[in-house]
Amino acid sequence: MTLYDMHMHSNFSFDSDMTMEAAARRSISLGLSGIAFTDHLDVNYTADGSDVYYDFEQYLDAVSKVKEEFKGKLEILSAVEVGLQPHVVNENIKRLSGFEFDYKIGSTHLISRIDPYDGSYFKVETDKTHGYRRYLNEVIRNIKLYHDFNVLGHFDYLVRYGHFEDNTMYYSEFSEEFDEILKLITELGIGLEVNTRSYDRTPLDLSVLLRYKELGGETVVIGSDAHRLSRIGKNFAAAVELIKHCGFDYIAHFRKGEPIYERIR
Ligand SMILES: [Zn+2]
Ligand SMILES: [Zn+2]
Repeated sequence: MTLYDMHMHSNFSFDSDMTMEAAARRSISLGLSGIAFTDHLDVNYTADGSDVYYDFEQYLDAVSKVKEEFKGKLEILSAVEVGLQPHVVNENIKRLSGFEFDYKIGSTHLISRIDPYDGSYFKVETDKTHGYRRYLNEVIRNIKLYHDFNVLGHFDYLVRYGHFEDNTMYYSEFSEEFDEILKLITELGIGLEVNTRSYDRTPLDLSVLLRYKELGGETVVIGSDAHRLSRIGKNFAAAVELIKHCGFDYIAHFRKGEPIYERIR
């Protein structure tokens, strides 16, 4: 089976020290056919207002080097994970203009300037339903304001940091918000990422994928969101089974901004 890990971070991201070469070697040993380095562009990310970004020219240079080095063994794609926030739309457009990536992920990390990653979000949002709903509404707001990306990243980002008895984000609990998100991305031609990072701890609610399919969505991409070698391709076998189970015959990856569909059955 031809599988691509379409979400991983290299040392061009502030939170990873993985080299592209090491990631490529590890990916080959796992039997992957391709990978995308989706390093972070998160404008106005930190508490003091500064940006998280990298030099696109240096990055694209580095990607073309590893691309050449691993030619015929592993396809290496250039990419960016664009951090979405309502007030950074123009800045994102400005930063990205003139650069060609194979693939762009749009991800919501911050809700009113707070990244749940640091624990403070759930200190305020002590009720799961309220906290999760607030996040999904932020995702909706962000997609409406800016949608120049190929795939919606980790729609269920919060499940990583919740400390509830059951952290899963259920379709049935947030059907209104999910419907709006899934309709929006389907209409805009944006795919859905199955981000496998935490599915061993918090299972994905299949109903989300089933609903996406029902609404006409067909572009499912998988990504491990690895920041270190041991996380590359994590939970992929289970994720593929799940995607199949939901009735999808293909998993997508992107090259030069265009989806390529690989048959999974
Ligand atoms: Zn992310
Ligand atoms: Zn990421």
